[in-house]
Amino acid sequence: MTYLLDPYNRAPIEIVRGEGVHVWDSTGRRYLDFIGGMAVVAFGHCHPVLVAALERQARTLWTASNILRTGEAEQLAERLARASFADKVFFGTSGAEVVDLALKLVRRYFKSTATPERWRVITMDNAYHGRTMAAIAAGGSAKLREGYEPLVDGFDMVDFGDLDAVRAAIGPETGAILIEPIQGDGGIRVASPAYLRGLRAVADEHCLLLLYDEVQSGMGRTGKLFAYQNSGVAPDILVTSKGLGCGFPLSALLTTEAVARTVGPGSHGGTLNGAPLGMAVGSAALDLMLADGFLDQVTETGRYFKERLEEVAARRPETFREVRGVGLMIGLVCGPANGAVATALRERGLLVAQASGNVLRLLPPLVVTGADIDRAMEIFEDVATAPLA
Ligand code: PMP
Repeated sequence: MTYLLDPYNRAPIEIVRGEGVHVWDSTGRRYLDFIGGMAVVAFGHCHPVLVAALERQARTLWTASNILRTGEAEQLAERLARASFADKVFFGTSGAEVVDLALKLVRRYFKSTATPERWRVITMDNAYHGRTMAAIAAGGSAKLREGYEPLVDGFDMVDFGDLDAVRAAIGPETGAILIEPIQGDGGIRVASPAYLRGLRAVADEHCLLLLYDEVQSGMGRTGKLFAYQNSGVAPDILVTSKGLGCGFPLSALLTTEAVARTVGPGSHGGTLNGAPLGMAVGSAALDLMLADGFLDQVTETGRYFKERLEEVAARRPETFREVRGVGLMIGLVCGPANGAVATALRERGLLVAQASGNVLRLLPPLVVTGADIDRAMEIFEDVATAPLA
């Protein structure tokens, strides 16, 4: 019996504490946490620098109001803009919230152009953008939408990776293309640099906005601050969250001056958007992320992890069929049901997440070490050789 409205399939363990790359359950058992709060705890659980930043801010100013100015929000916005393509930043508290805002801005932007009839958005199969009404309609999985009809209108879904399908889907009302540069929940599917360049070219040719959902792939996960920086193909709007607040509810929408210009007083808002507690954590996280050599180290660790996984997959292709991903956003395609493999890993002390396409998602804290990965590999080896329950 639970009083929680409970739309989740939860594992039968209760997590009570976390430190670094480990969490402990209520029986005192320790797990290596490669779910990482679902790509959230970039610096591990309870990182002392983040704890100190939050504590310091909590003693100074919890919140003001968005009808007043706070320096914390101004500074973090500037730092994110300077580290990316963006001119302006808007802070939210969840991923879906800023996805929703991105979709609102498409409509608002075109209203101010010579083509105000443009409002539809081309979306991708298997995409995951969150659970607001607009986000489920933009998402690529029918399961997310089940029972919630009538849906928000205006989305035209094409196959992820198929540039011709995008061209064919463009009509007079099309305003934008929305894509995760690396699909997360969709099964760690990586958009190639050539495909992203193609999307940018098509968008430019037809005067469309290119929207990146980097809620999961952003904030250092791929060894760059944002995944798009691996290809250098910039969007017009980018949304990010998870690793930005490292567990504190925080998200951001980044955009260009051209789009931002259409946002005037009263056109959008949210009570806790840009509130100082989140800004303090986000700012401390960005300090850690942009410290000399940190992102290169994520690339190195990710390469090592993938190599080790590829070794075991080569030896046990019936259990592990394919390894894919960038940096520490890694997908492992399973032979047996991914749920059964995840359970077997958990029973041996390793927590991993699932994704579409019978994939296991490996999203460890970015501070994971080679020794942690070696320990995880012993567990993968064991599961690959033992029969699954
Ligand atoms: N977009 C992407 C790419 C995501 O991975 C997620 C979360 N898994 C979301 C949006 C939604 O974020 P939130 O759960 O914070 O609303």
